[in-house]
Amino acid sequence: MSNRSDGTDESGGTSDNGRNHGGGDDHRFETRAIRAGQDPDPVTGALMTPIHANSTYEQDGPGEHRGYEYSRTGNPTRSDLEANLASLESGNHARCFSSGMGAINTVLNLLEAGDHVVAGNDVYGGTHRILTQVYEQYDLETTFVDTTDHDAVRDAMRPATELVWVETPTNPLMNVNDIGALAEIAHDNDALCAVDNTFATPYLQRPLERGADIVCQSLTKYLGGHSDTIGGALVVDDADLDERLGFYQNSVGATPGPFDDFLVLRGTKTLPVRMDRHCENAMELAEWLEGRDDVSRVYYPGLESHPDHDLAAEQMDAFGGMLSFEFDGTLDQASTVVTETEVFTLAESLGGVESLIEQPAAMTHAAIPREERLDAGLTDGLIRVSVGIEHVDDMKADLRRAFEAASTE
Ligand SMILES: *Cc1c(COP(=O)(O)O)cnc(C)c1O
Repeated sequence: MSNRSDGTDESGGTSDNGRNHGGGDDHRFETRAIRAGQDPDPVTGALMTPIHANSTYEQDGPGEHRGYEYSRTGNPTRSDLEANLASLESGNHARCFSSGMGAINTVLNLLEAGDHVVAGNDVYGGTHRILTQVYEQYDLETTFVDTTDHDAVRDAMRPATELVWVETPTNPLMNVNDIGALAEIAHDNDALCAVDNTFATPYLQRPLERGADIVCQSLTKYLGGHSDTIGGALVVDDADLDERLGFYQNSVGATPGPFDDFLVLRGTKTLPVRMDRHCENAMELAEWLEGRDDVSRVYYPGLESHPDHDLAAEQMDAFGGMLSFEFDGTLDQASTVVTETEVFTLAESLGGVESLIEQPAAMTHAAIPREERLDAGLTDGLIRVSVGIEHVDDMKADLRRAFEAASTE
């Protein structure tokens, strides 16, 4: 992973955000993960950012505050996290929210009735839900397309299209979308391009460097990294865009508490070492699964058999910790697999240090009618795993045992 931007080269695209503290732009990702936004407390010298459990701030005179007036509007713990995330995503400005959905909602707040959105047909379920079940009633229309098909994306664009929403890799088949190409299509139409970077994290992929206007993160996943908090973030380069997002952040009020900000800051410090192990384990597990007779197909962008492998190799520094595979069996047998595993916990979500397993046809994608689901490649035996950082040999033994239990049913 030596080609990761260190923020100093031309392509790094980082510029002074005025609050980079000890994690200056001249440092590499691993250093900024620990240092950016993380100066020792000026009053006490405390190394770690204090949890500013505090709602309001003393003013020196009416309207004369010292940078903070009310914690929905701004809180020092959140500011440190925002500075940290801006640096990691190679952006100038970051805004944090109480969930990934809070962040996504804030991007949609930029739009008006009559506007049109183009989004991937395999975006996160919550993104699909807010676009259809919340925003359609405000006359915001969305066309869902296969975003790996650029002609289809171009055809879906209208004069009213103001936003192209991209996710990559996607869930659960790990389709990889070309961020640069999609940003160009958006810009040709004077639309914004937003990229949900939750699966890859900024350690593996920095969409702003490829022309995206907004990066969205569910901090709940890899950035928090320990399955102990919910959070979201938006990162941008453009100061005006940041100001507009800040207006909605403050007006809508889906802002995180300082305890959650603290937990995410604790997580981002170890993001590089965790991701290295997630990627290493996922690659080894994917290759092992691909060699088994009871597995008919493995979806992992790191495998040469993956249709988007070349794009992934070019766009990402490594291939991530998420993979899916088809267990060669019935819906019930696949249910037995996910119930029998012990190292892999049966649960939705992803990105924590512990391995999770789930069955899309019975869980995350159960709402899709079966025929439609099968057409989309989501077979009954499809199993998705979030590969944790435990020992990979324990994962293999766990899956082998669960496969045996399911096949003797
Ligand atoms: C989880 C997730 C979200 C939503 O984030 P929350 O923190 O759960 O609100 C959005 N996009 C992707 C890709 C996710 O995995």
